[in-house]
Amino acid sequence: MQVILDYGVEGKEGENNYDESCEEFIRVICFAATQKNVPFVSVKVTGIARFSLLEKIDELMHLVNADSLIKKYYAALKILTEAVHEEWMRVDKRIRKICDAANEANVGFLVDAEETWIQDPIDALTMLMMAEHNKTKLTVYNTLQLYRHDRLNCLISSYEAAEERNFLFGAKLVRGAYMEKERRRAKEKGYQSPIQLNKNATDTDYNNAVRFCIDHIDKIGIMVASHNEYSNMLAVELLQEKGLPINHPHVHFSQLYGMSDNITFNLAKAGCSVSKYLPFGPIKDVIPYLMRRAQENSSVGGQTSRELSLLKKELQNRN
Ligand SMILES: Cc1cc2nc3c(=O)[nH]c(=O)nc-3n(C[C@H](O)[C@H](O)[C@H](O)COP(=O)(O)OP(=O)(O)OC[C@H]3O[C@@H](n4cnc5c(N)ncnc54)[C@H](O)[C@@H]3O)c2cc1C
Repeated sequence: MQVILDYGVEGKEGENNYDESCEEFIRVICFAATQKNVPFVSVKVTGIARFSLLEKIDELMHLVNADSLIKKYYAALKILTEAVHEEWMRVDKRIRKICDAANEANVGFLVDAEETWIQDPIDALTMLMMAEHNKTKLTVYNTLQLYRHDRLNCLISSYEAAEERNFLFGAKLVRGAYMEKERRRAKEKGYQSPIQLNKNATDTDYNNAVRFCIDHIDKIGIMVASHNEYSNMLAVELLQEKGLPINHPHVHFSQLYGMSDNITFNLAKAGCSVSKYLPFGPIKDVIPYLMRRAQENSSVGGQTSRELSLLKKELQNRN
């Protein structure tokens, strides 16, 4: 069983804080490189960039007329004021520094997915980093939230863009952690919710995304980041059906530390490449971060009761 280090900074504003976080991410990468069981680190772009700046660029990306995410991104950057453009260039520099460090240290770099209204510039930046670093190996991964009804298409078009430009696409597949917040905002502002109509639709797209990645496993690196037993089993079964090793170098599984150990341990025992996603950092930053995660994450209740029932069953077995 391996570990993914998730430095839990978020919502700390100010250029000094962003620079410090950037240096901390690099220290984490250097540490990971000395450990044989830390194959990845994860980064939240809001740890190194102002939320409202991401929101501004996202908004502009929706206004400009262009036929690809990257073109929209460049077009949006062109209409920023000089000061704001400079601020974004500092973000760009930070992310490049972190990616260079990860690439040099041979440590995978996962970019977390966040709220939809800041996600487009994160996606564009991550694609650009992949084009630079994923030519021959998988260093950079983007996160796709399959509770969004547009993400299965996004996976397919990102893969096609990667094919066209000859790089490997790294896809960390999650269902998504901000469902209530997304629905609430869409309702308040009067736009169509980006979230699937129901859990079943999310599950269908998630599992189809797993199928798509495994069908294109030569060119895609997949991380099944889920506590859903069916989705994890599906990935294993698809590999077996195709006669591929379940520890294929392009396939990794991960669950949050403290959740679904039954899945993690069984995957590890079967020989899969699997890790715990471990948030860490100064207690004063990480506890509020974890509290926010717990509040936002509608699956925590269901997950906890599912695990509790498994524990009760096991206790009964042992009596
Ligand atoms: C290693 C790891 C990394 C992660 N990184 C991120 C990240 O970068 N960004 C992020 O947003 N989340 C991230 N998450 C959290 C993830 O998005 C899910 O919230 C969490 O894992 C629960 O989904 P599940 O697949 O484990 O299981 P399940 O319990 O099967 O699914 C619960 C999820 O289904 C969806 N859902 C529930 N009810 C409905 C409904 N009525 N309609 C539509 N959809 C519904 C929600 O997304 C909910 O969280 C990560 C999780 C893991 C394990």
